[in-house]
Amino acid sequence: MEETITSVVDRDLCHGCGTCVSSCPLEIIEMTRDDRRGIYVPQLDPALCNDCGVCLKVCPGHAVDFDQLNMWLFSEKPTNNLLGCYTKCYSGYSTEKNLRYGGASGGIVTTLLIAALEEGLIDGALVTGMSELNPLEPAPFVARTRDEIISAARSKYCPVPANIALREILNTDGKYAVVGLPCHIHGIRKFEQLNKKLADRVVLHIGIFCGYTYSFLATDYLLLRNGINKEDVKSISYRGEGWPGVATVRLHSGKDVSIPYFEVFNTVKLAFCPWRCFL
Ligand SMILES: Cc1cc2nc3c(=O)[nH]c(=O)nc-3n(C[C@H](O)[C@H](O)[C@H](O)COP(=O)(O)OP(=O)(O)OC[C@H]3O[C@@H](n4cnc5c(N)ncnc54)[C@H](O)[C@@H]3O)c2cc1C
Repeated sequence: MEETITSVVDRDLCHGCGTCVSSCPLEIIEMTRDDRRGIYVPQLDPALCNDCGVCLKVCPGHAVDFDQLNMWLFSEKPTNNLLGCYTKCYSGYSTEKNLRYGGASGGIVTTLLIAALEEGLIDGALVTGMSELNPLEPAPFVARTRDEIISAARSKYCPVPANIALREILNTDGKYAVVGLPCHIHGIRKFEQLNKKLADRVVLHIGIFCGYTYSFLATDYLLLRNGINKEDVKSISYRGEGWPGVATVRLHSGKDVSIPYFEVFNTVKLAFCPWRCFL
């Protein structure tokens, strides 16, 4: 029997990125929540699996061969391993005040996506908002309007299975941008090597800086420390209102609880970092 994604989960190497879910030809993998650890992990039904091995081939948790990936993408290896291959490096921020103020770190990502959409370079962008139904869970989706792109701005400091939305990109003609953490982008690039349709459709990859992410337990703890019951939460925004900004928890009662960014980080710290991020 071929190894599957289950071996990655068993070895604690899973990022929870969701690439395996959208790459499985039989569609028998789904993301489930491991509530004890506060992370997402894929679950595969072994009785239905035909051992094709695709889930493992696209998995960034299993392995990322940077030399091979660089040669495939850029036909060269980077001279600086930390920076990777680059043409030029810039820093910047959105010149639209509301996007700059409402973004995580200057709103560049949101602004680039809107520009790409309005100039017709893309038909949609894989971004991550928060679920309306389950306000403490992320909701990756393909945004197709300026307002949808803006609705997904700001960092989500919780596990995000962004790549489950790749299936929509595969099922719907068009050109797309993808936004993700480095582990998401690794998964997408590995998947593109196996799937030309995906490689042709994704024309813009935006990888955002990431030191590590947080498990759902971090949010639980943050709420607890601020005396907030989970059931009372209508929405949560982890960043915004300038830099470094605040986390805002909106309650069903209409009250907003604001927690300064540095208080969020001083509170949750590495104790709530998923094990995989340390690797
Ligand atoms: C887990 C995490 C760790 C980070 N670590 C660092 C760090 O170590 N150093 C640093 O300088 N900055 C860090 N950041 C900040 C991040 O790099 C900024 O979000 C980025 O600079 C973009 O800022 P922006 O204002 O241009 O983005 P915005 O215009 O606010 O847009 C952010 C975009 O990223 C997407 N997104 C947000 N969170 C996630 C997520 N968890 N997974 C996938 N997509 C997501 C959104 O959908 C949106 O499209 C981290 C962010 C996250 C989510």
